[in-house]
Amino acid sequence: MSDTIFSKIIRREIPADIVYEDDDVLGFKDVNPQAPIHVLFIPKRPLATLDDAGPDDAALLGKLLLACADYARQEGVAAQGYRTVINCNEDGGQTVFHLHVHLLAGRRLTWPPG
Ligand code: 5GP
Repeated sequence: MSDTIFSKIIRREIPADIVYEDDDVLGFKDVNPQAPIHVLFIPKRPLATLDDAGPDDAALLGKLLLACADYARQEGVAAQGYRTVINCNEDGGQTVFHLHVHLLAGRRLTWPPG
C-alpha cells in the first residue's frame, strides 16, 4: 500500500485532532466535517480498502466498528443515533486509500446518500 495522508497522521507527521487511540486503531476528526460529529477511525496497520481485507482482518474490522460505537456513547449521541460509512474504491466515493470508517452524528441524516 502506498503512503497516504492518514499514514502521516499515524506517524504524527501532520497534525490531526485525535480523539481515540488504542494499539490497533486511531480516531481523528474529519478535516471537512459533514455533521457536527464526523470522526474517521482507521487501522494503524496499512490496509488500502475494505476490498483488501481478508479473514485475518476480521478482528480489526470489528475493533473499528466498536471504536465508533464507544465514541458515539461517550459523546452522548448513541441513543439519538449515528451512521457509520465505509467508502470503497472509486464508485464508492473513496478518496483516501487507507481504510477508514466515517462516524457521522449530531444531526438527522438523510437516506439514501448521494
Ligand atoms: P473518503 O472519501 O475516502 O471516504 O473519505 C476521506 C475523508 O478524509 C474525507 O471526509 C476528507 O474530508 C478526510 N480528509 C482528507 N484529508 C484529511 C486530512 O488531512 N486530515 C483529516 N483530518 N481528514 C482528512
